[in-house]
Order: sequence, then structure tokens, then C-alpha cells
Amino acid sequence: MQLRSPTQHLVLPLSRTVDAELASDIEKHSVYVSEDLLSLSVVQNEPRVLVGYKDGADIERLQEKLSRYLDAMLARVRRVEPAVHYQRGRRSKAIEHDVFPKLLERGWAFQHGRGMVSLSGPALTLSRVIDETFARRYRRSYAAQDRAYPAMIQAELLARCGYFEMHPNAVSFVSHLRNDFDEIESFRAVNEGASRLNVTHGGAFAPIQHCLNPAACFPCYEAFENHRIGAEGQVLTWPARVFRYESSNLVGLDRLWEFNVRELVFLGTDAFVQAGRRKAIALIQEILDDWDLSGRIETATDPFFATVYASKAFWQEAMDVKYEIRLDIAPKSNGTARTVAAGSINLHGAFFGERFNIRDANGEAAYSGCVGWGLERWVLAIFSQHGFDVQKWPERLQERVLAERDDS
Ligand SMILES: [Zn+2]
Repeated sequence: MQLRSPTQHLVLPLSRTVDAELASDIEKHSVYVSEDLLSLSVVQNEPRVLVGYKDGADIERLQEKLSRYLDAMLARVRRVEPAVHYQRGRRSKAIEHDVFPKLLERGWAFQHGRGMVSLSGPALTLSRVIDETFARRYRRSYAAQDRAYPAMIQAELLARCGYFEMHPNAVSFVSHLRNDFDEIESFRAVNEGASRLNVTHGGAFAPIQHCLNPAACFPCYEAFENHRIGAEGQVLTWPARVFRYESSNLVGLDRLWEFNVRELVFLGTDAFVQAGRRKAIALIQEILDDWDLSGRIETATDPFFATVYASKAFWQEAMDVKYEIRLDIAPKSNGTARTVAAGSINLHGAFFGERFNIRDANGEAAYSGCVGWGLERWVLAIFSQHGFDVQKWPERLQERVLAERDDS
């Protein structure tokens, strides 16, 4: 008997060669193309992709779907070079590899499921220090007010924010059983004594009206609907739980389905929001200096779904509305440098002001902007750059971690 490998391969041509950034986006977004697709990689400097697929897959259908996907992604013509707005190196060149497995080994992280991780010990303390450091600075330098919002969000609100048309692939939907005695009882009966979930049929669930929030700031615009912002502007900050489904890209601490964010939102005039962004950049530079972290702030784009990727990403880049802070982590096994996007600084123009009828002091649609830091990615970058021995960390970071530990 001949054993067949469960993975088959095929090579597909691209209409042109692509730069490294587009190649990485093509690879990243390919996880949503087909359940038969196991891997897709762009051959370096060649107009070809290498595709791995499940044994028994309908190759013709897969190939046809892939070619539509690749056409959509290749429609993107990069005309704007990604601008680096700030760059910082650090004293040591040492870098810790395999941080996530090492955290698991030490019992400082626990994997609950795909994309679901909890922290404990020094890793948890560190995530609190990161969160509180930003929160305190926001209160001090922006007079930011504290808020807290639910992790669930009404589907209707996501629709109004345009999320379903831009990132449908990333949404986590919430439902419940229909209010029907017989449906609930038959669901109960098939799950009696079961050690996994049994679903009788899809119709047992109520129509979806809720989701898990995929972008920290959305609930805040709803709370300001039909409000007028004073001349001094409005700044809010809160810790948020954010959910983004990323299929097989969900691995380690850098790609979580559920993650924690320290969010900051400014609402007011265009000038007020622009000033808020400048201040946020200065503040992140201070923190990178204090904690001796290497990284950079650069122009970025959101991970739009393939069919709208080309137009939206180009627009976003050209308008210079999204910056990302990228922190260095261990390079790939082939030596290629790696960074993790530890957060973003975003300008929304008057988009939310118009959709939610939020007015500035002059009666115009208010402008908004937000800054979100992904705490788990900061944790990953700090352990990567400074190792696991807190005693050897930069003094100002070490002080904060030791103080936080004594408090808890
Ligand atoms: Zn936001």
C-alpha cells in the first residue's frame, strides 16, 4: 500500500511580481479563500505562488477561487511608499527566541483554545504595567476621562460603522437558542451527558443581532450619538476586549482571536484630533526611550477583505490616516527580521461624526481619532527584547513591574 501525503501542492502564476509587503498580505489573507487550502506562499522575486491543499480537494474549483482572489489582491498598485515617521534602536542586540512556548513552559501563559490565551505571574504583571502606564499618561497629558464598554456589540452598530462591508471575515457572531420550548428541550436532550457541543440544526439559533466587538472604539461613538462636543474637545480612555477571527493565522501571542487593548479616543475639530495624534506619537517615543525598546512608527493599512483591499488600502495609505507602531521580535528561522504591530494611531476624519450626528463646537460633524495598544503584543515584544529576568530589565520598566507586583 502506498501512503499518500495529506498535503498536495500546485504552483500558480501571478500576472506580475509583487513587493514584500503585498506578498505578505497575499499570504496572510489567503486563509479565507477555501477550507481546502492549507498554505499559500509567494515565491520570492518571482511571479508565482506555491499552494498546499488538502488531499481530495476539488482542484479545479480551488484553482478558480484562488485566481479570483489573486486578481483582487493584485489590483492593488502601490504608489505611496510606506513612510517611517520614527525609528528607535536599543542598546543590546540580544533577542529572545520562542517567547510564547517559553511563557507556556514557565506557567506565565496558558492556552485556552485557538487564539485564546491568559497570562499570569510576571507576564500578567507586565501587561498591567503597560496598560496603567498608558492610562496614567493619557489622564495626565490629555485630561482623558475613563470609560468602560461591553465586549459585545449590536450587529446593527457594526453595520453602521461599515465593518461588515470592509472586514466581514474577522467578525465573531453571537447567538442564542430561539425562545421555543421544544427547540430548547431537543438541544438540551442531545447535549445531555455529552463532552462536546452537539447542534441539532442551525435553525435552533435565533437570528444574529450581536457580535463580539472587533474594534475597541465603536461603542464610544454610539454613546455620543446626537451630542455636541465642547470647544475644548473630548478625550476618553478605557481597557477593551477585542475579538478578531483570523482563521489559521491565529498563533501564539501575536495573533489572538481575543485580546486586550488600551484605547484612547479624541473627538472634536480636525485641528484638535491632529494635535491629539502628534501628542500620541511624542508619548510613544517617551515610553520606548524609558523602556529601551526598538521599533518604529510607520504608515499602515487595515486588513481589508480581498475584494475591497486594493481600493481601501490605497486610499488609506494615500490619506496618511493610519500609523502602526512595530516592535522588534526574534527574526524568522531564515534570518528575516520580524516585528509585531503593537498598536495603531488612526484618524477617521468626520466619518463617525457624520454617521452618529456628533457635532463639534461650531456645529460641524466632529472629527475623531483613536490610539489602540495591543497589550499581549507589547508583552511579547518586551520579553523578546529584554528576556525573562526582570532584574535585568531597564530600570524604569523594572521599577514599575516591581511596584505593580507589590501592589497586587
Ligand atoms: Zn479605535
